[in-house]
Amino acid sequence: MKVTMVRNNLEANDRLAEENRRLFDRHRLTVINLMSAPGAGKTSLLERTVAALRSELSIGVVEGDIQTSLDAERIERAGAVAVQINTDGACHLDANMVAAAVGQLELEKLDLLIIENVGNLVCPAEFKVGEHAKVMVLSLAEGDDKPLKYPLMFKESRVLLINKLDLGPYVSSDPKRIEQAARSINPEITIFPVSCKTGEGLEAWYGWLRRTCAESKA
Ligand code: MG
Ligand code: ZN
Repeated sequence: MKVTMVRNNLEANDRLAEENRRLFDRHRLTVINLMSAPGAGKTSLLERTVAALRSELSIGVVEGDIQTSLDAERIERAGAVAVQINTDGACHLDANMVAAAVGQLELEKLDLLIIENVGNLVCPAEFKVGEHAKVMVLSLAEGDDKPLKYPLMFKESRVLLINKLDLGPYVSSDPKRIEQAARSINPEITIFPVSCKTGEGLEAWYGWLRRTCAESKA
């Protein structure tokens, strides 16, 4: 009984996600669903990304958090338009929440919309929100075993950013082992080892975003 209910919910969500996607496509807008565990550095990545690309791309951000508007405030300070969703306990965003949030944005003015999901390595990967690509962040401090323990997230993501390279000397995990484990689950995944603290590796990520946005406009 319960299984059937969950499946129906996911199907309803998928249909609404398709509607969101059609809306985004009409505006030739590139939409990224950004996922990670809490504290991996999603908002720090967005601050860096907005600051680096704001002169070339018009960027909007939807911030998903259980509570507070702290992250949307950080993003607006970095120079992008931000809408905060408070899920009030829910541990992931769904297509319905995203539809309500994007109603507050002038989509025709944007080139890139990044949706920062709730920090969680499990169910955000199950709920489409209408995105063109899922991108995930795993910080070095979380450990090499995470791709094997949380395979769906790695399987669904087109890009993996391995963040906090600057912590290398203080932790026993190794970016090469994380890469290997991630590719054993998703051989196609594009991987960028980065540090949002020092800026190391971020140019490659910006290049990927530029190319992806240019493809949506073509
Ligand atoms: Mg955040
Ligand atoms: Zn959830």
